[in-house]
Amino acid sequence: MQGTVQLEKYFAASEITVLAVCFVMLILLTVSFKVRMKSFRIFAAMLYMLIIATLADLTLHYLMDRDPDLPRTVFYALRTIYHTLLFAILHQYVIYTCEATALSRQRRKPYVLIASALFIIFSIADAVGIFTGRTMHIVDGMISFEGSTIFTIGYVLFVLLLTVLLIRVRRRLYRQVMIGFFGVEMISIIVLAAARLRMQSTYTASTFLFPLIAVMYLLHSNPYDALLGANDLRGLNNLIHYSDEKQREYLFLSLYMRELDESGATLSEEMRTLIRHVAESYYRKSTLFQVSNGHMLLMVPKDRNPNWEERTVKVLEEFGKEYERFRYDYKLVIGESTPELNRKNDYISFIRSIHAQIPENTIHRVQPDDRDKFRRYETILKEVADIAAKKDPDDPRVLVYCQPVYNIRTGKYDTAEALMRLLLDDMGVVFPDQFIPIAEENGYIHVLTEIILSKTCKAISVLLSEGFEVTRISVNVSVMELRDQDFCGDINSIIDRSGVDSSRIAIELTESRNDSDFLVMKEKIEELKEKGITFYLDDFGTGYSNMERILELPFDIIKFDRSMVIAGGQNKRSEQVLGSLADLFSKLNYSVLYEGVENEKDEEMCRGLSASYLQGYKYSEPVPISELKRFLDKE
Ligand code: C2E
Ligand code: CA
Ligand code: CA
Repeated sequence: MQGTVQLEKYFAASEITVLAVCFVMLILLTVSFKVRMKSFRIFAAMLYMLIIATLADLTLHYLMDRDPDLPRTVFYALRTIYHTLLFAILHQYVIYTCEATALSRQRRKPYVLIASALFIIFSIADAVGIFTGRTMHIVDGMISFEGSTIFTIGYVLFVLLLTVLLIRVRRRLYRQVMIGFFGVEMISIIVLAAARLRMQSTYTASTFLFPLIAVMYLLHSNPYDALLGANDLRGLNNLIHYSDEKQREYLFLSLYMRELDESGATLSEEMRTLIRHVAESYYRKSTLFQVSNGHMLLMVPKDRNPNWEERTVKVLEEFGKEYERFRYDYKLVIGESTPELNRKNDYISFIRSIHAQIPENTIHRVQPDDRDKFRRYETILKEVADIAAKKDPDDPRVLVYCQPVYNIRTGKYDTAEALMRLLLDDMGVVFPDQFIPIAEENGYIHVLTEIILSKTCKAISVLLSEGFEVTRISVNVSVMELRDQDFCGDINSIIDRSGVDSSRIAIELTESRNDSDFLVMKEKIEELKEKGITFYLDDFGTGYSNMERILELPFDIIKFDRSMVIAGGQNKRSEQVLGSLADLFSKLNYSVLYEGVENEKDEEMCRGLSASYLQGYKYSEPVPISELKRFLDKE
């Protein structure tokens, strides 16, 4: 080797590119929301180390060009800084991998130990080699290549260690991430090997850059929805977790638009622009999250926005104005972070618990007692989830109450409506307004329906065997249940298993605004009617009624809501309107049932308005189904 001195080829272009890319990454990291796992700090440190290392190497070559007669120690020192930092990056990369894959302290120990040993041994050996002039010959202002072997050996050993580690943790990593890591590692090795073969030292820094890009992309980028500027929920969890550590306080604004949420329709450009505008221009450093299609959440750090109260007033003013333009039903919830919410990372459930309690088109500012209600909500949610998981048709927590219905033609109580209650340990009897919305929103309603239907069938069977006359009992079903393919099968099998005839069961449904629901409803009603089940249209007259649609659905009985009874009682004209509606229905062969008949006066009016059935407190409040006997005739 002595005779032919091999000199390193070097040109600055590659290192300048590496530097530039590092700065690009830093810029991207500052302007975008990033996932701050614990490992993020290690990642950032590696990035900074690479910048300094590259600068050291650039300086070394620059000085050597400009002034080759400078004391050698200057060059030695720069090269030592360069190599030591590169080894430090490799060392950190091992720790990073352990951290990012959540390897336990015990398991990561050998890897960290070996990495630290490699780091100490090779940086010392490399530095000693350099300073004794053994590994860094400077010939005519150029660096001879031989000396770099120590560095190469160290690099190869680190890569081996990393490969073993990656294989060890492969099951902890999402497969795509794993492939990404390995692929990038391979490219680095190929580039380094090719460069070594050609006596190139220029590309060394770039082989350290590639894995950093992979890490940033795969693990720390949580890119915006490019159109909306929103992050997803993972980002939210991360933000809360991170801000709790930093004890940073937030104001949050949650906008929920049910229609958009349920239809899954994409937001219009106008809507997106507005949301972006509010998120960007009223508060500093706020982060927008899209919880679901129609649910946006804006998190505003209070320390960056000392004037957040005034700003919020402004936002609400603008919201009021813009609402005229869009007219979507909405629920707006405004609140502040608390350690308790942070700890459980519960913002979304908390906000949903408020949604379940406030009417459409209201703005709700979180009050202290909302948190008590939230605890109630959580208890109910937990119990309902448990009921749904157990699927026990005899679950003692589900109570069937029944409200007898007065049949005008026969003058008897021979039908009734089944109404659900929950009997919970900590709360006693819980009413439907408290748990039905929760069960609906969380997808547990169908199991509750199955239980109540099963219990109702059993009760009918007992009543019949004891000789009571019960024509049928109606059960309430939520429209969303019909969307399930198995709905009709589930209902039929429960009724069949009980041995009760399907004609003893009726199903009450309320109208839905949703276009697709209409078709589903029609299909399911037709299918179950063939089996002999009777269908009631529930809550007719509340809010919105599409007569054309209603008449297309094969209902048997129309239940006029109590609000209609109240309206009809107000004056003669309203009574006439109500009467002609009822008249229309009975002419079209529907039976009319009035709900919420509370007194003589209500009853008298309803009797005169094409009524077939009457239901309300005047006759009885809902009673446990076992007490229904009191109202029934015996054969
Ligand atoms: P709904 O189907 O309209 O049930 C009638 C509600 O009106 C019942 O309230 C009943 O107790 C009440 N009510 C009866 N008579 C009168 C009266 O004369 N005056 C007044 N002001 N109210 C009267 P409840 O039992 O609290 O049920 C509330 C709602 O919860 C029900 O309204 C229904 O939508 C829902 N629900 C109850 N049980 C079930 C169920 O098993 N499944 C589903 N999906 N929903 C249920
Ligand atoms: Ca009902
Ligand atoms: Ca009703």
